[in-house]
Amino acid sequence: MDCFKLYLLKYCSILVIPLYILDWKDFDKLACVYFKMLFTDREAVDSFLKPYFQPILNMITTIIFDMNGVITDDEEIHELATQRIFSTIGFDVTPEIYREFCLGRTDVAAFKDILEQFGIIGQNLEDLIEVKSIEYQQLIAGNLKIYPGIIKLIKDLHQKYPLSLTSSSTFEEVQTVMDELKIGDLFEVLVTSRDVVHGKPHPEPYLLTAERLNVAPANCLVIEDSENGVKSAKSAGMKCLAISNTESPDKLGLADWIIEDYSEITDDLIQKIGL
Ligand SMILES: [Mg+2]
Repeated sequence: MDCFKLYLLKYCSILVIPLYILDWKDFDKLACVYFKMLFTDREAVDSFLKPYFQPILNMITTIIFDMNGVITDDEEIHELATQRIFSTIGFDVTPEIYREFCLGRTDVAAFKDILEQFGIIGQNLEDLIEVKSIEYQQLIAGNLKIYPGIIKLIKDLHQKYPLSLTSSSTFEEVQTVMDELKIGDLFEVLVTSRDVVHGKPHPEPYLLTAERLNVAPANCLVIEDSENGVKSAKSAGMKCLAISNTESPDKLGLADWIIEDYSEITDDLIQKIGL
């Protein structure tokens, strides 16, 4: 049974059960209509009641953060680490190649596609990823840049919503960032590249996050910076607020809302996006 049907049962029961307890004289008739509609003409019930329940159904209860480009201003470091590793095997990852293959994606998917697309043979994918991850962690140690206002935003939202972090980075990279910024405790769930088969733009990372949080995708608001990340969130059935930190707004058009600065995020805006 989907989320809406559960709400329907719950709220109709709230109406019917008290009338039964109060021994309302027309209870039999009402119950008869209620059950008849519920079990024989659900589509009619759905279309009749859905507008009234829509605000409840779509209420944002959970906030999910992407990491790179949303919290950490480290896309240049990822790019540098990737360029260095590929240069050791004689391949030049140009800015154009990095943007097309790597931005917002897992290293597994991006590196695999680069190797295949450019006919690079004889390389071990897992070794490349591990060496790049070590290079990244060394580059950010004591040198991690973050976006203005992001830590305050995370701490403020943590007072009101369960938070999750869903990143295309490796577990080790995410853990290093969480340790550097001392914010790991603020997230109930961390989903990293090791948890999924398909990375962004596939919906799997966000669907897995919702499953681990035990929340319906429709009640989640994702904060993303990349086109691939926005596609992933939207195809998972979530609301998405994009910030133009790394990509221009025209690349983020699938998002429900686009901002330039974290100070634009308020409770009113969060719930407005949910409607
Ligand atoms: Mg990102």
